[in-house]
Amino acid sequence: MSAVSSWLPLPANTGFGPDALPYGVVGSRVVVPLGDQLLDLATALARVDGTLARLVDRPTLDPLLAAGRPTWDAVRTTLRRMLTVDTPEHRRAVEAALRDPGPSPQLPFTVADYADFYSSQQHATNVGRIFRPDAPALPPAWKHVPIGYHGRSGTVVVSGTPVRRPRGVLGPGRYGPSERLDVEAEVGFVVGTPSRLGEPVPAADWREHVFGVVLLNDWSARDIQSFESRPLGPFLGKSFLTSVSPWVVPLAALEPAFVDPPAQDPRPLDHLQPAGPALDLTLEVRLNGQLISRPPAAALYWTPAQQLAHLTGNGASLRTGDLYASGTVSGDAPDQLGCLLELTRGGQDPLRLRDGTARAYLSDGDTIDITATAPGPSGTLIGLGAVSGMVMPAE
Ligand code: MN
Repeated sequence: MSAVSSWLPLPANTGFGPDALPYGVVGSRVVVPLGDQLLDLATALARVDGTLARLVDRPTLDPLLAAGRPTWDAVRTTLRRMLTVDTPEHRRAVEAALRDPGPSPQLPFTVADYADFYSSQQHATNVGRIFRPDAPALPPAWKHVPIGYHGRSGTVVVSGTPVRRPRGVLGPGRYGPSERLDVEAEVGFVVGTPSRLGEPVPAADWREHVFGVVLLNDWSARDIQSFESRPLGPFLGKSFLTSVSPWVVPLAALEPAFVDPPAQDPRPLDHLQPAGPALDLTLEVRLNGQLISRPPAAALYWTPAQQLAHLTGNGASLRTGDLYASGTVSGDAPDQLGCLLELTRGGQDPLRLRDGTARAYLSDGDTIDITATAPGPSGTLIGLGAVSGMVMPAE
């Protein structure tokens, strides 16, 4: 696949060129980031395709998500043509729609149901060793199904929303602010096309249902989580907040990042095949601006196709706006671990920061930024933006 170039001047090495074209909502308008600017999508499309323009002339991506893959492809193809084929009509349409960045991005779609998986073998093994040192590191079902839990969609927020340190039961007779607030660097998948109740979605059909990808921080209170989760959970240890990046990157933009997933042994059950691709995203986690980890999503054992097939394998239906996440992304190397629980080995080995302080878990005032890029065509980069949040003291 070769990179396309735009007649529109864009900064060198921008992750938001004509091969990226993610979607978000800013100022109650559906926008596409282009270099350092935003394109008002309905305004741009209005001059070339009124039907597509009306679909995005809303303060949310919801109608676009519900419209299905042929329409997703039509919007993307039309927009790419406008940006790459230099005609007076295209110039007029695009230039009339360009905006300066303006206010902060909003949550771009209505989150329906939210589920979070546990698909990194490295993460599951590390956490098992820390939480259950006397048991086998991987739970017995781990290599047979993509393990997950259903989360709380109403507390999914957009990047930039502060995280209030949660209170909870930290142990017998102890209710108070969490002392072990952590992050989980994850990849989230946004469902567009719904499915029928009682009809599992075949793994091969995942791209008919999944619209695109966000970055996700599954904030986790390890003390609340470890006390409540024997045996059910996670419950309140994670439901207080989940943050997502503002740009939903369509799967079509990530095709150059499709790679073979790790070998799976034992052979997955038939309904979890074909596995489909893993995504070659390199995440970066920063604590107060300091890079602390580079988790590789390509290393995830279970794929997004298998997660979706499993999620619906009992006949549970999908709704437009469903969000499911990979689980913490961790690689083999010490600088590829996607949460502080692993990076500090359960708090025993605190991170040394450049300002001379140390962290076992997050302090009030700390900021976490998770960013990622994907390989685009011909050595270009596809930007996924960032999911950020600052820790506020407990109420
Ligand atoms: Mn998680």
